[in-house]
Parts: sequence; C-alpha cells; structure tokens
Amino acid sequence: MSATMVDETKIQGAPPPQLNDGEALRPKEYFEQRSAKEMEKNLQFPTRTLQETLACAARLIASKMEDAGLAGQISARSARGNNFYWTLRYGLGWDEATPDDFIEVDGDLNTVTGDGMANPATRFHLWVYAGRPDVSSIIHVHSPWTAALVAARQPLIVCQMDMTPFQDDCAFLGDWPGLPIADQEGVIITAALGKKRSILLANHGMLTAACSVQEATYLAVKLERAARIQIRAATFGPVKPVDVALATEARDYLLRPTESGYARAPATDSKDMSSELRSFLNKKLLTPEI
Ligand SMILES: [Zn+2]
Repeated sequence: MSATMVDETKIQGAPPPQLNDGEALRPKEYFEQRSAKEMEKNLQFPTRTLQETLACAARLIASKMEDAGLAGQISARSARGNNFYWTLRYGLGWDEATPDDFIEVDGDLNTVTGDGMANPATRFHLWVYAGRPDVSSIIHVHSPWTAALVAARQPLIVCQMDMTPFQDDCAFLGDWPGLPIADQEGVIITAALGKKRSILLANHGMLTAACSVQEATYLAVKLERAARIQIRAATFGPVKPVDVALATEARDYLLRPTESGYARAPATDSKDMSSELRSFLNKKLLTPEI
C-alpha cells in the first residue's frame, strides 16, 4: 500500500487510552515486545560495504562533533581475519573521508591494502581488539564536550534518559598515560575499558568499542551528547544519577539486539574485567611499572 492510500479497516477508531475500573493497564513488557516486532518489520538498514560504512561514520562524526576528527581514529576489523583492520589513512579530515580513503593494516600497523599509513595512535586499537574478541569497531575522538569533561577529570554520571545507554557501560581512566602511540598505552586503556563498550580517558578523550561500526558510531555520538548534558546540568548544582534499575532497563531497551540491526545485548559482566581479558593482559605486556 502506498503512503497516500488509506486503509479504511484501520481507521474505524480504537478507543483512547483510559483508566477503567477493575481493568489493569497492559504491562510494559507488552509494549516492549510489540515495538520490537514493529521495528524489526519496518526499520530498513542500507546495504553498504565496510569501507562505505566507515566513510559514512567518519563524516557523521565530523558533522556532529565539530573538530573531532582532528585528533582521533576510526577502525574496524577486516573480513580477512582478526589481525587485520581497516582505518582512515593518516592526513585526511574525517569530513573528507571517502570509501577509497580507507586502508587495511596488519596487527603491527603495516599497510597491506591501499596507499598511505595509519594514524600512529591507532596502535592502542590493536590492543583493544586483541583483548576483546567481541569488538568489531573502535572510534576514538577528542570531541569538544567530552574533551571538556575529561579535562576536568570527571567520570560520566548517567543523569538523563538519553545517557542511559552508558549505564554501567562507560569506564573511566583517571590518569593520562600520554600519547597512545606505543604498546604500553594500549595495555592500560584495554585494562581500564574491561568489558565495557565505552570509556572516558581523563585529560584525553573518549573511546567506543562495539560489535559494529554502526554501534560504535551511535555510542560515540551519544557519549558526546551525554558529556554536553552533564556539563550543562552541572551549572545548576551537583548532578545526581538517575535510578539505577530504571537506567538499566532503559539501556537494555535502547541497545537491545535485533536480527537485522546492529546492537547487541550489554556485556553481562560489565562491572569487572573478564578473567580471559585479565589473563590476556597479564600474559602479554602488563609489567609492574605500568
Ligand atoms: Zn587521542
């Protein structure tokens, strides 16, 4: 049926919502299941190559976050295997990105497909990927509101509904380990991230690590917005978090997995680093001085 045609059977008039004596309101689960079914049926996702998706993500972030692309990296696992990744070649603004500007690099940042080099600071992505097999894409930016929040060394406080995707899912690294161009910073950031999907890096910026480019992009845009909300709210006094149970419920709703979509269920043990991740870091590089 086209958008201009009217289905007469659907406009006979359902009763408005009302409270009737003795009649219970339909449970919230009913509406959750109903909206999930309707979204599955009605939301269409475009088919793009990985490079097209990365270019769209880079441009979207550039448009939403002012100068975010001046310092930051976007990457995604290659279909070739776990030790190869695609990233924007160094020297381009994110607003300039086209699918042809993405290069494939190996696990030591050597270019294997395309011309040019990766941003040297992409090295810490390699550590996150190595420690988190569930992560397929990483976005790291120094976006304006996030940069202000971390300059003040403030962790995220989930104090508004749009911030709930980060309930118990945004880590905080309180000490700046320096430019992330060597392996040590990768170890530190990976350990601080744990099993979460995002992290605020004090005196630095943000990182999102997700199951897809789309989810990493969604979280990056949301996290920048969350930082802006928190900073603005703080002008009225101390910021108070919303109820944990309600925030958790909202997070699970907003980030629920779909068959055709991009989100996934939150990590079940997001409070603590998993034993696999801890053992990976211990085995690889964790040294007493780090
Ligand atoms: Zn950075």
